[in-house]
Amino acid sequence: MKYIDEFQDPQLARRLLDDIHATVTRPWALMEVCGGQTHSIIRHGIDQLLPEGLELIHGPGCPVCVTPLELIDKALEIASRPDVIFCSFGDMLRVPGTGRDLFQVRSEGGDVRVVYSPLDALRIARENPEREVVFFGIGFETTAPPNAMAVHQAAEQDVRNFSLLVSHVRVPPAIEAIMSSGECRVQAFLAAGHVCSVMGTDEYPALADRFGVPIVVTGFEPLDILEGVRRAVRQLESGRHTVENAYPRAVVAQGNTAARAMLDQVFAPCDRGWRGIGVIPESGWRLAPRYRAWDAEYRFSVDTITTREPAACRSGEVLQGLLKPHECEAFGTTCTPRTPLGATMVSSEGACAAYYLYRRLGGTTTAPLEASSVE
Ligand code: SF4
Repeated sequence: MKYIDEFQDPQLARRLLDDIHATVTRPWALMEVCGGQTHSIIRHGIDQLLPEGLELIHGPGCPVCVTPLELIDKALEIASRPDVIFCSFGDMLRVPGTGRDLFQVRSEGGDVRVVYSPLDALRIARENPEREVVFFGIGFETTAPPNAMAVHQAAEQDVRNFSLLVSHVRVPPAIEAIMSSGECRVQAFLAAGHVCSVMGTDEYPALADRFGVPIVVTGFEPLDILEGVRRAVRQLESGRHTVENAYPRAVVAQGNTAARAMLDQVFAPCDRGWRGIGVIPESGWRLAPRYRAWDAEYRFSVDTITTREPAACRSGEVLQGLLKPHECEAFGTTCTPRTPLGATMVSSEGACAAYYLYRRLGGTTTAPLEASSVE
C-alpha cells in the first residue's frame, strides 16, 4: 500500500538503526506523544532494537484514554434516556465509566449507535426529527475538525435535535504539563504527526526553547519512528533543541488552514480534565457560546454526576510516562481487554492494550495474542 509499505522496508530500518547506534553515547529518554506511535513501537519491537539506555516513554496521546471519567458518566446518563439516539465511534463503547459502559446501556435498551463520522450522526438527526441525536465528540486536534464541521452544518441547516457531547484536548498544553511536573524524565519528544498535519508546527518552538527539549514531528510507520528517534538523539548528542519535521509527506508548517479556521470558528479554548491526570489549564476546546444550542452538556442536565475511579487503576501514571503498563499490579490479572479497569486497556491506542496485545510481560515479548482474543 502506497505510503505504508515503503515505510516498513527492513533494509532501510537497519540503516536507520545503525545510525542511531553510532550516534548514541549515553542514556536518553524520549517520549512518543501519540498512542498510535506507541502501538507501532510495541508491535514492531522498535524499543527493543534501540541502544541500551535509550528509552521510549509512552505519552498521553490516546484520546479515548484521557477522556475524563465525568464525561463518560455524562455520556452514559444521556445515552440511557428513551428520547435519545446516542452516536459514537466504536472505541468509546467499552470505556468503563463509574460502574458500567455504553455497551451495557445498549443492552439495557438504550439506543447507542456506532458511526464512522459525526456527519453520519447529523444525518440520523435529520432522519429522526422527533428524537434527540447526540454525538460523542472526543479526541485531539485530529478529530476536532470534523466535529466542528458537523456543528457548523447543524447550525447552517437549523437541525435543532443534534448536539455534541464534547471533550477535545490539545497536545501542546499536555507537553507543557508533562515538562512542568517535578517527576518528568523526558528529554525529547516525538510529536504526533497527524495532529501537526492539522495544526502545523508553530506552537512547538516556544516549548522546545522553554524546556530545552528537541521536538521532532514524527509519523507512525516503523521508518517514521526510527527517523524521529534518529533526529531526536542527534539533537540531544549535539546539545541542540529545535523543532524538526520528520513527517513532511503529511505535515506543513502552517497545517491545514481550512481546518484551523473551522476550529477557530466553532470552538473556544477551555481548561480540561484529563482522565488519570487532572485538569490542565487551557488544554481543551468547548463549543463557542454562539453554538451553545448544539452543546449536549448544556441541553441535558447532567451536572450532578459523581464519579469514582477504580483504586487499582494506575493509568494516570501510565499516561504521564511514570509507569510502564506491566508494572501495574492489575495488568493482565484483574485488568484485561475483556475486563478493563481503565481506558488505557480498552482503546486501540492505549498503552496497556498494546502491552497486552503484544505480550509485553515484564519487558519480554512473546507471540502476539490473536486479535480476536482481545476484542
Ligand atoms: S493495566 Fe489496567 S488497571 Fe493497570 S493502569 Fe492499565 S488500565 Fe489501569
